[in-house]
Amino acid sequence: MTDILDLPDWKATSSRSDGSQYLIEADYLVHPSACLKCGSIGHLYKHGTKKTIYTDSPIRGLPVRLVANVQRYRCRDCGETFLQPLGAVLDDRRMTRRCAEYITDQGMRDTFSRVAEHIGCDEKTVRNVASSAVALVADEFRPYVPESLGIDETQLSGVMRLVLTDVDRRLPVDILPNREPASLAQWLHSNRAAEKVLRVTTDMYPPYKNVVRDRLPGVPVVVDKFHVLKMADFAVETIRRKVSKSKPKEVGREWKRQSVLLRLRNRELDERGRFNLDMWLANEPTLATAYWAKERLYDIYKANSRAEAEMLLDQWRVSIPPEIASVPRHDFKAVLTATKNWREEILAYFDNPITNGYTEAFNGLIKIMNRRGRGYSFEVIRARMLWPLQQVLRLDSMPKHEELRHNFESSGVFMRPNNTGFPMEAMRAYISQQHQAVFDRIGGQCPSCLGVFTLPEMTVREETMLCRKCAERAV
Ligand SMILES: [Zn+2]
Ligand SMILES: [Zn+2]
Repeated sequence: MTDILDLPDWKATSSRSDGSQYLIEADYLVHPSACLKCGSIGHLYKHGTKKTIYTDSPIRGLPVRLVANVQRYRCRDCGETFLQPLGAVLDDRRMTRRCAEYITDQGMRDTFSRVAEHIGCDEKTVRNVASSAVALVADEFRPYVPESLGIDETQLSGVMRLVLTDVDRRLPVDILPNREPASLAQWLHSNRAAEKVLRVTTDMYPPYKNVVRDRLPGVPVVVDKFHVLKMADFAVETIRRKVSKSKPKEVGREWKRQSVLLRLRNRELDERGRFNLDMWLANEPTLATAYWAKERLYDIYKANSRAEAEMLLDQWRVSIPPEIASVPRHDFKAVLTATKNWREEILAYFDNPITNGYTEAFNGLIKIMNRRGRGYSFEVIRARMLWPLQQVLRLDSMPKHEELRHNFESSGVFMRPNNTGFPMEAMRAYISQQHQAVFDRIGGQCPSCLGVFTLPEMTVREETMLCRKCAERAV
């Protein structure tokens, strides 16, 4: 029978639950042979016990209290008494070590109040224990360097912070306290990025490009295509507004209502939408010129090769008439400038088709975290955003996964059907899809300890999933 406590050198003697928590009585099996007061060996005798309560990490969805029957000893030589020293607990915190680890970990993932609820303690305790995790991230976090590095920035408490990601794996890499070129240069240098990074994607902010050119010689910078296309969308929008000013008010309002027709790609329109758009543009040559300029810019990204894209881009640039490219920031002039100054980086996309979409999604998560924890310092937000990644890196599952895939592919095993007749690769995809479905159903929350985890940190157990620690405990 497995011991419900499952703590090394401890033995549960009884356990009960009143529906709101578990009370587990237990003995610590290691006894001292020497007197803690005088050091004399072999002259101790038992002198009653003392019950001490320790908070433990939750199981089966309930808080746990460990009621320790601590042995008291008296020494025949010095006459002093002392209590049995206990392992696996933190006496100053009156909790098990694994409970402190649970709070440290979960305090970086979930709200302090929810963690306190899971543990059955007050929020202040959680805050105190969790603060050590912030220090841990600040001191020990060693980012891994990806092959495809995304660079972007986000504003936190009034300061622009540099955000680095792995756009291939869609994982955060690091968050720097500012976006000074020197900080980025230092980061690339101290993490030996030149040995690993093959390509960089970013928006059109010259300092990033300059730093990459200096520190990662020969590594192509790819301008995020959505930034380029957004400029064209913006140009069409401002031209629509400008033209509508010469029309009666109600026409302007109608145009605004219909503006989605201009925003969508032409092939995304249904029959009626296309009919309405054609009618509209037939009477408005300037708007039509702007709209088709936008459409043709989008089409360049469908080119099959860099050479084709290069040709299309050059054709596109000379095709833009001055009537829609004369006012900086208000029409296609900005796009013409960008496609001139960033030509190389825009075309680099066709050799390295990556975008910065994940980085922007991650920025969104940072913003949510920032709003949720009003008053979090930059260090706390950084720790919270990077902690789950650090735990996954510690599990070593990413290198293992890569190794696995490499062995897989080089051995050709993935081509061979297994004994169910399914190709191995298809099976693997199917299995991970199922994992994902279970993971989504439980909301990433371990049903036993109620902690929240990422998928690589979970283990499938019968119909559900458990975090690794709970799976090992098997309770
Ligand atoms: Zn003694
Ligand atoms: Zn768990």
